[in-house]
Amino acid sequence: MPETKLNVKLLSHTVTPEITIALGGRLCYSDSNIEDLREAAAPHADEFIGKLLSSSHLSPIEHASFTFGAEGVSRALLAQITRHRIASFSVQSQRYVRQEELNYIIPESIKALGDEAVNEYKQQMAQIHSYYLSWLDKGIKAEDARFVLPNAAETRMVFTMNARELMHFFSLRCCNRAQWEIRRLAWIMLAMARREAPALFEKAGASCLSGACPEGRMCCKKQAQVKELSDFVTELAKNNTSDNELVKILDFDRLNMNK
Ligand SMILES: Cc1cc2nc3c(=O)[nH]c(=O)nc-3n(C[C@H](O)[C@H](O)[C@H](O)COP(=O)(O)OP(=O)(O)OC[C@H]3O[C@@H](n4cnc5c(N)ncnc54)[C@H](O)[C@@H]3O)c2cc1C
Repeated sequence: MPETKLNVKLLSHTVTPEITIALGGRLCYSDSNIEDLREAAAPHADEFIGKLLSSSHLSPIEHASFTFGAEGVSRALLAQITRHRIASFSVQSQRYVRQEELNYIIPESIKALGDEAVNEYKQQMAQIHSYYLSWLDKGIKAEDARFVLPNAAETRMVFTMNARELMHFFSLRCCNRAQWEIRRLAWIMLAMARREAPALFEKAGASCLSGACPEGRMCCKKQAQVKELSDFVTELAKNNTSDNELVKILDFDRLNMNK
């Protein structure tokens, strides 16, 4: 019954996302045919994307999609990420997949309390799992036995967001006000997206990176640190850092701005 850890992969994305977006955007303002536009779009795609973003002409950026795979995430995270309605999800089913083992996430705040606290948490998970198994033993289907499972239970998902939705997601979930688990996922996804489409995602991230903080009295007042982290992520992206390395580097400690 092991603790499980976050693993994220960028599985696929639109081929040449920035050229595709630039082509779509240019078409709006040109009488050229598609073939000519395609040739014209490639050399200046970055520049044109900058114009689209700065003029808030955002529908062309919906032409590029990014598909991620995430495992080692909690059902608590699932509840949050699936609130993003423009995304598409495939999630491991607790109806069809019996939890013969209970994999779970341990919050860093509990780890910080030390070994005794972690052991207590693990015992609680074991206890919960024994309740679950006892219902299965009584012939109850997994779809009903799962009602006793915790928010900490691991899930796996594949999800797709277009670039406009991704930017919206980053603005909310890279913010310090977002919960730590989805926030970490968001920063890792941002690094992957910036690596593949640097001009498109150059200014993406928490809202305070591109303007005033929208959180009012709840503002974390750590815009300088958020900017520093964003610059670090840009460096990782420029260095073509692999998915596995990004997950390792952008750990809880690196993202913790309360130190
Ligand atoms: C820090 C934080 C705390 C939160 N706390 C809570 C909480 O306590 N309780 C809670 O219930 N939720 C909470 N949420 C979730 C939040 O309310 C949103 O459901 C979630 O962030 C998804 O945002 P969204 O609807 O803008 O995004 P998406 O669903 O991804 O939609 C993107 C955009 O598309 C447009 N759009 C999508 N669907 C519609 C529609 N039907 N009609 C009109 N426009 C639409 C909107 O402009 C929207 O912003 C929290 C989120 C954050 C970041």
